[in-house]
Amino acid sequence: MDIRSIGVVGAGTMGNGIAQACAVAGIPVVMTDVAQAALDRGMKTIDGSLERLVKKDKLTAEKKGEVLGRIGTATAVDALAGCDLVVEAATENLDLKLRIFAQLDAAAKPEAIIASNTSSISITKLAAATKRADRVIGMHFFNPVPVMALVELIRGLQTSDATYAATEAVTKRLGKTPVQVKNSPGFVVNRMLCPMINEAIFALGEGLATAQEIDDAMRLGCNHPIGPLALCDLIGVDVQLAVMQVLFEGFKDSKYRPAPLLVEMVEAGYLGRKTGRGFYSYA
Ligand code: NAD
Repeated sequence: MDIRSIGVVGAGTMGNGIAQACAVAGIPVVMTDVAQAALDRGMKTIDGSLERLVKKDKLTAEKKGEVLGRIGTATAVDALAGCDLVVEAATENLDLKLRIFAQLDAAAKPEAIIASNTSSISITKLAAATKRADRVIGMHFFNPVPVMALVELIRGLQTSDATYAATEAVTKRLGKTPVQVKNSPGFVVNRMLCPMINEAIFALGEGLATAQEIDDAMRLGCNHPIGPLALCDLIGVDVQLAVMQVLFEGFKDSKYRPAPLLVEMVEAGYLGRKTGRGFYSYA
């Protein structure tokens, strides 16, 4: 199936980034959210992101206007009726996503593919909430979407080869590199990245070294662009804990148990950059 129009559900951090990437690739987009204010914020973010490209001479003002002109917004799910692919990027909550998937199944045309950008929810479970389980897939973009090259394409148990092929083709059209992954807790990247961050938190909690020393060690010894604790502050300490809980519960394997200090940081409200304090202070 040739994908000629894309719907994006949710205009937040990921949704507006996905809408931008699609529009830059020349594909018409309809972005929806529950409230007009969220859509306005999303469009403002896209405008700012494109404006930075104009200032750096990577985009002309005329092209910026064309890209913005490709993005329509709506608060009603019905606005997605004409889309060939709908990418759901709403808040990470199972009940909410199950509800949205049932709504999308009713609103989208029968042949449309419905994808989810979820970081942790089973694609197989979301697919089962629809009558088109073979046309449901995970499209896991990375933050910030306009910059990050990877998209994990997650096949639920029911995902068909045709759905995978169409989604892979559109991912490439967005200028991204798809990696095919089976449905499993944390998929591939978070399954490896988050336990590494968790281990850094164990090391800090055990007093092996300071936060700065642990981060310097990983930056200089492994050539990581950013240390694991600074990265955790960027991702959100609460998000890191949520992923570890998904891995721990999903695999029932003690190797994924959240570090005690991680749990305590969240209890204290030290959630990283967004609260001004995490493993580092951002006051
Ligand atoms: P966010 O909180 O920035 O945005 C979520 C948006 O969804 C909000 O604007 C909210 O109003 C909207 N929303 C809630 N219910 C809705 C509904 N019924 N219909 C339409 N919109 C609705 O969240 P985010 O960080 O963009 O995350 C979105 C999804 O992407 C989550 O599943 C998350 O796990 C995943 N994800 C996030 C990141 C990241 O780094 N933030 C990375 C990869 C994947």
